[in-house]
Amino acid sequence: MKTLAHRNIPITIIGGGIHGVSIAIRLLREVPTAASRLTIVDRYPLPLTQWRRKTECQGMTFLRSPAVHHISPDALGIVEYAERHNRTSELAPPYAQPSTQLFWDFCNAAFTELTPPQIYYRFEVAKLRWDKGAGEFPFRLISTNNEGFRSGCVILAIGADDCAYIPPEFMQWQRQYPEIILHASQFAINAGNEQGSGGKIVIVGGGLTAGTLAKSLRERGHGVALIARKELKVEQFDFPPVWLGPKALTEFANETDFLRRYDIIQQNRGEGSITPDIMESLVSASNVDLYPKTCIRNIIANEKCPVARRLQIETTRGTITNVSRVILATGYQFDLRRYGFLADLIAKHPIPLVRGLPCLDDDLQLYPVQNLFGSGSIAQLQIGPAAGNIAGANLAYERLREKLLVLLSA
Ligand SMILES: Cc1cc2nc3c(=O)[nH]c(=O)nc-3n(C[C@H](O)[C@H](O)[C@H](O)COP(=O)(O)OP(=O)(O)OC[C@H]3O[C@@H](n4cnc5c(N)ncnc54)[C@H](O)[C@@H]3O)c2cc1C
Repeated sequence: MKTLAHRNIPITIIGGGIHGVSIAIRLLREVPTAASRLTIVDRYPLPLTQWRRKTECQGMTFLRSPAVHHISPDALGIVEYAERHNRTSELAPPYAQPSTQLFWDFCNAAFTELTPPQIYYRFEVAKLRWDKGAGEFPFRLISTNNEGFRSGCVILAIGADDCAYIPPEFMQWQRQYPEIILHASQFAINAGNEQGSGGKIVIVGGGLTAGTLAKSLRERGHGVALIARKELKVEQFDFPPVWLGPKALTEFANETDFLRRYDIIQQNRGEGSITPDIMESLVSASNVDLYPKTCIRNIIANEKCPVARRLQIETTRGTITNVSRVILATGYQFDLRRYGFLADLIAKHPIPLVRGLPCLDDDLQLYPVQNLFGSGSIAQLQIGPAAGNIAGANLAYERLREKLLVLLSA
């Protein structure tokens, strides 16, 4: 594998997840020769590793979104791929949601087809510098191995994984029982650590991660309690689909107050929802207890249990005993300040933030830094509630496109 050291690259995408790969594929489809001027860097050796890991850790077998949302510009790409490979049974009704394996295979094929020249590099960015006025390649990227290269433009497609959200009331309990209380991002259903434990697994949260984990764990024979602060909402999608159309997006763009935009996103995504099929499997299961509209008042050690360390959870709807694991399926809250590799850049060139989210300009540029762009959760204040989803990558590309084409033609 070639190295990036000391090279000058016109366009660098930090993050080889769904967003980074989508943007690269869309750009390469338009300008195939861009392959020699475009690079994706990621801390993992293969594209989409993080997405695959997360779906496997939760036991998610089908996507929530319809088949038309994927990483390449042809809407029917995944359906045609399924037909070509006799895998249409992996498109689930009612919206042809693909199986996670089909989605993964399709993404790999789409990416490989376009990239005979190497554009993907394992390179964890430890520092990003912007030397204003330093000519054609003002960005300097330095890896955790101290390798460095320069770039003319950088797109941050860094997801939100470094921003796992733990509700404040859980912080103290998590410090007390760190081996039992985990954020969902630290938990894997197949890690083997739950086997034969016999205790109850408590999942906190009302979104699809909570629902999927409850389903996967109950299918593996565990007793599960799912606790949500609000009524459990059942929806196929995690945001109203109008957020992919011009009407809602134009109204959103007309809102000049970024704090108000933040509130609109919260209202439209809420605290999450569970898809109808998963909810059905939970409601009918004998080993799942659902606790909607329930708050946790206290978590203490269950001293009487002779076998292993157990917890007792006091809720507004009674006490749950013999708890062997608490999984916080409480999501992520993007905050630019939590990305260490950006710390110096932010200190030197203050980027306006609202609740940790950058106020990007219309081209998704992190003003005042020129030619530094964002896609994914980072771009919520411009793209709206769909920003972090698969479909958000297409919306982001539409905004970035002009600038990227100009950069490539320079
Ligand atoms: C289990 C699960 C199922 C989902 N299902 C759906 C669905 O059905 N439909 C839908 O629309 N959305 C879905 N989503 C939401 C969303 O599409 C995914 O979270 C998606 O992975 C977001 O893509 P991303 O590229 O923004 O982030 P990520 O996939 O997290 O990719 C970000 C990448 O940036 C890299 N990175 C970060 N910092 C650095 C650094 N300093 N140096 C180098 N690399 C770095 C990371 O290694 C990572 O690979 C799902 C999410 C999860 C967790």
